Amino acid sequence: MKNLILAADVGGTTCKLGIFDNHLDRLAKWSIQTDVSDPTGVVLLKTIYSAFVQKLNELNLKMEDVIGLGVGVPGPVDFETGIVHGAVNLNWPGDVNIREILSQFVNFPIYVDNDANAAALGEKHKGAGHNADDVVAITLGTGVGGGIISNGKLVHGHNGSGAEIGHFRVDFDQRFACNCGKYGCLETVASATGVVNLVKFYHPKLTIKSSILELIKEDRVTAKDVFDASKKGDLFCLFITERVANYIAYACSIISVMSNPKYIILGGGMSEAGDILIENIKTEYRNLTFTPAQNGTEIVKAQLGNDAGIAGAAGLIKTYVIDEERVE
Ligand SMILES: [Zn+2]
Repeated sequence: MKNLILAADVGGTTCKLGIFDNHLDRLAKWSIQTDVSDPTGVVLLKTIYSAFVQKLNELNLKMEDVIGLGVGVPGPVDFETGIVHGAVNLNWPGDVNIREILSQFVNFPIYVDNDANAAALGEKHKGAGHNADDVVAITLGTGVGGGIISNGKLVHGHNGSGAEIGHFRVDFDQRFACNCGKYGCLETVASATGVVNLVKFYHPKLTIKSSILELIKEDRVTAKDVFDASKKGDLFCLFITERVANYIAYACSIISVMSNPKYIILGGGMSEAGDILIENIKTEYRNLTFTPAQNGTEIVKAQLGNDAGIAGAAGLIKTYVIDEERVE
């Protein structure tokens, strides 16, 4: 009986691999080094396939019992075709058709999505999303990523660029350049880099004393320094934390009007700042958001951490194969 799901969360340094059952309960988890020597992707994908063969053997499980393989990758993905349009961290400069390459080795369905969408799906199924049909996940790390699940399905849009929450323009003064080539994106004011942007911008303008003055002057201040000092009552850092929270709340309010999520899940390194950031986001979100669109919506911290990606890769098979009754 087919009852297994294979999952791969492909990262620039390691690939996290997993075997799940058809209820998304995890049977095995391990990781392998990412081989970035081959720009066509074939070598890495074949290595991943071989790792699954070996692990299934070790566990006395059979490849013919596999329902499908889900893959999360750090790059823009065309969900329909399974093509990733370049992945800098994997040394894949051009298009790599992940589904086509892996189909040479296996004959079950293969679904591919970008890592932020996979993480959102993981949190929906096994984490803070409690399997609700409408869930939004925002990853606040070095950059800002996100995934929107609406009516149980990920929002991809016509060319896969849907739910690129990090590139929502929230800073209308457009003070900081974004990696995408535009200005004022959420990522420029609400990522770890964005926090530092705001510190550098406001520090010369404000006369408030700050405990992190030396770090600012020496140009080595981090987002964590700012949140840590905020917790101790540093007024300048509290001001910055509120600014950051307001931008995130604004993005959440627009998303709420559009897709009315039950849960807005905040993950990534910055969510570790804890209540000082999240409580400020909640307060401003309640102020800003159209009342019917915020009723019953909860803003919560992610639960799965680094395991969200692999749970979500498996979730692709649960959502798009098992729940759609496409098991062959
Ligand atoms: Zn941008």
